[in-house]
Amino acid sequence: MKFIILIGPPGAGKGTQAKLLEQSLGLPQVSTGDLFRYNLKNETELGKLARTYMDKGELVPDAVTVAMVKDRLASADAAGGAILDGFPRTQAQADALDQLLEQLGGRITVVPNLVVDREELVQRLLARAQIEGRADDTEDTIRTRMRVYEEQTKPLLDYYQQRGLVVNVDGLQSREAVQQALRRVIEQAA
Ligand code: ADP
Repeated sequence: MKFIILIGPPGAGKGTQAKLLEQSLGLPQVSTGDLFRYNLKNETELGKLARTYMDKGELVPDAVTVAMVKDRLASADAAGGAILDGFPRTQAQADALDQLLEQLGGRITVVPNLVVDREELVQRLLARAQIEGRADDTEDTIRTRMRVYEEQTKPLLDYYQQRGLVVNVDGLQSREAVQQALRRVIEQAA
């Protein structure tokens, strides 16, 4: 079981790239943001709970998020591993993932870090707000999500760097160029 963790700030292009990688790698994209949005749309209990955090740009509590990911990774299509997008986002989630992978006999092969500067990120998120109408793409929540990323998720780069897993990928290139760079990085790590 091979796991690739796409890491990077909100708006860096993790979702777009993960979807493209799905086909070429034959591994499913597991996006916690998408899973929460699916639950929101279907008005499940999980969705109702998640909404209160997502609307503010805050993180859904770790226990809830971890349980959802565990459940998702138990599906047959994840038997060979997955491309994780938006998870882990906190140290507690990273620890829970390590534990889970130990149980499942999986390993993290590489942690590509999509690097995009702050100004470009805000522009992209505001543009996405107009196109997709995502409720959490307002200026206020964007600011909160950036702060949450800096405080809670960025430290994970150190954690994975110590294990030699992080490879930076320039996220300012074209979609295709980023995809190519990611494929190279993943192949080299396999
Ligand atoms: P972004 O483009 O901001 O990275 P995502 O689609 O990944 O957006 O996530 C949207 C929201 O879903 C987050 O702001 C957060 O509220 C919630 N969320 C997603 N992943 C996680 C996670 N791993 N832990 C806690 N909350 C999460």
